[in-house]
Amino acid sequence: MKIERITPFLVGRSLLVRVYTDQGIVGNGEAGLWAHHRLVYEALRDLSEYYVGKDPGRMEHHFQVVSRNTHFAGAVLSAAMSALDIAMWDILAKSVDKPIYALLGGKCRDKVKVFANVGGNTLDERAASAVRNVERGFTSLRTTPFFSDAPRKDSSKVIKEAVQIVAAIRDAVGDEIDLGLEIHRNLMPDEAIILAHELAPYRILYYEDPLAPESIEALEYVARHVDLPIATGERFYSIQQFKELIDKKTVAMIRPDLSLAGGYTQCKKIAGLAEASFVGVFPHLMGSPVNIAAFVQFDAAIPNFRLHESNMVDNHPLNEVIDQPLTLENGYILVPDRPGIGVEILEDKLARFPFQPRSIEGTFHADGSVAW
Ligand SMILES: [Mg+2]
Repeated sequence: MKIERITPFLVGRSLLVRVYTDQGIVGNGEAGLWAHHRLVYEALRDLSEYYVGKDPGRMEHHFQVVSRNTHFAGAVLSAAMSALDIAMWDILAKSVDKPIYALLGGKCRDKVKVFANVGGNTLDERAASAVRNVERGFTSLRTTPFFSDAPRKDSSKVIKEAVQIVAAIRDAVGDEIDLGLEIHRNLMPDEAIILAHELAPYRILYYEDPLAPESIEALEYVARHVDLPIATGERFYSIQQFKELIDKKTVAMIRPDLSLAGGYTQCKKIAGLAEASFVGVFPHLMGSPVNIAAFVQFDAAIPNFRLHESNMVDNHPLNEVIDQPLTLENGYILVPDRPGIGVEILEDKLARFPFQPRSIEGTFHADGSVAW
C-alpha cells in the first residue's frame, strides 16, 4: 500500500488531515498545535513531498526519517507528524478491520474516565457549576481557581480568592469527588508554593501547570516544596522532554497530547517511560471529535491512563463532520470497537464550518505589563 495524497482541512477551530492510499483506504488525523494551525497546515503540505509514495505502515521509520533528517525539531513539525501518524495508524487498523487499540496491545479498559470543567465568576457560580456536573454523573472535576480579573489583582488577593474558590467547590460537592486544579501556567514559583500549601487540606487530585513550561528546573524547585501532585507536559512535543520531566521526579502525571507529541507511535513510548516510574498519563485533549476518537484508542491501550477532558464529546459542534460521535456515560467515554480511530470524517460537511483562527491578544497586569 502507498500514500497517494495528503489533504489538510482547517475546520472551525481544528486542523484535520486525511491521508489517501492507492488501495482506497483513507486515514483520518488531527493536529494539536491549536494556537498556530495555519503554520501546521503549511507544514503538512510541505511534508507531503516526503510522505506521498511511501508505505503508510512504517510509522516509526517515517517519524525517524523526518525528525532526524535535519534536526530542526519543534512543535509545528511535531504537530504535523502527529496528525499523519494518527492517520497512518487509522489506515493500518482499517486494513485489518480492527480498532487501533487492538494493534497497540489490546484494551486495558472498556471506558475512559473524563472530568468536567467547573466555571463561574463568583463563588456561588463555581459551587453551582460543580453541583451541576456531579448531577450529570461526573465524579471528577477540574477548575481554574482564579476569577477572570485575577491578572489585574495583587498576588495576595489572587491566592486568597483561589483558596476561597476551592473551598466553595469542596463545600458544595463534598470530599468524595475528585478535584483537580488547572493553574494554566499563571503563577511564579513563589506564588505556586504558597498557594499549594494553603490548598493542602482540600484533597487536590492534581496541580496542573503551576508554571510556564519553559524550565523543568524551576518546576523541580516547586515540586520539592509542595505536597500536591503536579501534572504538566501539554506543550511538550518530544520523548526526551517527557523523560527529563519524569526522571527529575517533578510530576505525578504527565499530559502528552497525542496530536502534538508524536501520535500513537511516540506517545505509546512516552506512556511506557511514565509507567516505569509509576507516573500516570493524563493526556491533554483539545480539538474536534476526530481527536477525541483518536485519543480514546490510545487511552484504552495504556495501563497508566488516568483521565482527560470530556471535550463536549456528546455536544461538540463538529460532531456534524463525523459519521458517529462517541458516547459519554456517567463520566466515562465508552471505547468503540469500530475499525481505526472509530470515526470517519465526512468531507462534504466540512465547508459548513469555516476556519476560526485564534488571534494573539495578550493578558495584562494592572500596570500594563504582560501577565501570562
Ligand atoms: Mg492545561
